[in-house]
Amino acid sequence: MKEHIIQTIPSKIGKEIVSYSNVRGGDINHALLLKTEDQQYFCKYNTGSDHAGIIMSEIDGLNLLKANGVLVPDIIAHLSQDDYSAIIMEWIKTIPIHTSKSGQITLADQLIKMHSITSANNKYGADQNNYIGRLVQTNIWYDDFYDYYYKLRLLSQFSLAYNNGYFNSYTPIENIAKKLSDIIPNEAPSLIHGDLWSGNYIISHDSKAYLIDPSVSYGHREMDIAMLHLFGSVPELVMDRYNEIKPLASGWKTRMDIFQLYYLLVHLNMFGRSYLSQVESIIEKYK
Ligand code: ADP
Repeated sequence: MKEHIIQTIPSKIGKEIVSYSNVRGGDINHALLLKTEDQQYFCKYNTGSDHAGIIMSEIDGLNLLKANGVLVPDIIAHLSQDDYSAIIMEWIKTIPIHTSKSGQITLADQLIKMHSITSANNKYGADQNNYIGRLVQTNIWYDDFYDYYYKLRLLSQFSLAYNNGYFNSYTPIENIAKKLSDIIPNEAPSLIHGDLWSGNYIISHDSKAYLIDPSVSYGHREMDIAMLHLFGSVPELVMDRYNEIKPLASGWKTRMDIFQLYYLLVHLNMFGRSYLSQVESIIEKYK
């Protein structure tokens, strides 16, 4: 399949591929570095049963971010066939965020820019469903953040976990639903990346921060901040800069776990039991 996809690419980008190699890091898709005589490209492809939706959801998310002035890699081409879908993007030469103070500042600035965008209808949600990992993320519009977060996010993943046999009652999550408005301060809807773990931003060699692999909707910006802290450490300067320019409501650190609960449920449903104890301890704290 890989060779077949690579053979199709020259007709889409107008250049011959002279070499390619696998790129590690993604859990859901396959990734390649493609080289032509004079350029490098990033290719991501998916061959699963939902390939068309997964790749299209990513393209739509990247386009929405770009349309709002958020830096994302340029999309060069989209390949869509019966048995696979692929995106060809500009290749970003990356450096580790910990080595670049200006990269840390530009990441904070990108997040501030994105989180300063609100929905045209002033509601929470999005026009269409998308994917988080390989799971469908349902989007409709809610006037109320707590409805959005409970019904579209927590409950949908909890139901899946229930059906997967990890829980035998809905009572704990229903109890949490009643307390959400006490735990989370209300905020206007913000454009959020939606899956902002440390593998979903990259810092270029010239210290620009690019967001990749989004699962966008209009939600609460603390969802992104919490996910940023869930897997991997966040350089202090990122949050110092963010809070200096667009301060989070007090107590944000102590309630990150209520937002991480969604992402941990997603991981439980996607990758299995190893995430159960983290899910259970957050449920235990708030139920
Ligand atoms: P997945 O959708 O499977 O999670 P990712 O989008 O996270 O895949 O991509 C896998 C890895 O490829 C990332 O960890 C990132 O380091 C790298 N990557 C993603 N986009 C680019 C790009 N445009 N240029 C260079 N490297 C990239």
